[in-house]
Amino acid sequence: MNIILLGPPGSGKGTQAKRIEQTHGIIQLSTGDMLRATTGSDTEFGRRVKAIMDSGQLVPDDIIVEMIDRRIVQPDCSRGFILDGFPRNVAQAKALDAMLAEHGLRLDHVILLDVDEAVLVDRLSGRFSCNQCGASYHDRYNRPSQHGICDGCGSTEFTRRADDRPDAVKARFEVYRKQTAPILPYYRDRGILRRVDGMAEIDAVTHEIDRILG
Ligand code: AMP
Repeated sequence: MNIILLGPPGSGKGTQAKRIEQTHGIIQLSTGDMLRATTGSDTEFGRRVKAIMDSGQLVPDDIIVEMIDRRIVQPDCSRGFILDGFPRNVAQAKALDAMLAEHGLRLDHVILLDVDEAVLVDRLSGRFSCNQCGASYHDRYNRPSQHGICDGCGSTEFTRRADDRPDAVKARFEVYRKQTAPILPYYRDRGILRRVDGMAEIDAVTHEIDRILG
């Protein structure tokens, strides 16, 4: 089963993708996480990508498309994958169709996490994740059950993203409205777009997604 999770920054794509990964045995492919892994390296490429990401703009399509094209054919994707953060514009959606066709794969579901933007700013400003396993948390809505200790792996080290600062958040919403939202009709016209209320409790959102995935 191959699915796309769509939704604005902070809509819960990463959180839900990790849950789907556990329950459905398919792999989360987060382009943001893949890119963040490269920005740690002290290379010209890493610095260039980091500057773009920190500003909230999109990294060039060719870099992203090549990254995904290589990733979806790896053995761990053989049962399927959850695309989280890709595609981000219509050109990427078309490139995805081309690569799926080339590999004899298909898209089963495109799930939109529908949320109110005003709430998202609040969500983004409080979020952090585990350095070790990537589990995501929030200062107010989703704290680890024991303070300072990751529920998933027991690590005590957490990170906050540079692009969750207010100026970058503003840029990311604008990019979403102008470049990513136009993807919705592309999938709606094909009858594979499903909307989920992303404002509901995290467990309720997971439940809705599970119903769609069957
Ligand atoms: P995310 O973790 O999905 O919020 O992505 C963080 C940042 O990574 C974005 O603001 C972009 O700079 C970059 N990025 C992630 N996915 C893509 C993509 N599909 N196309 C272009 N840039 C991306």
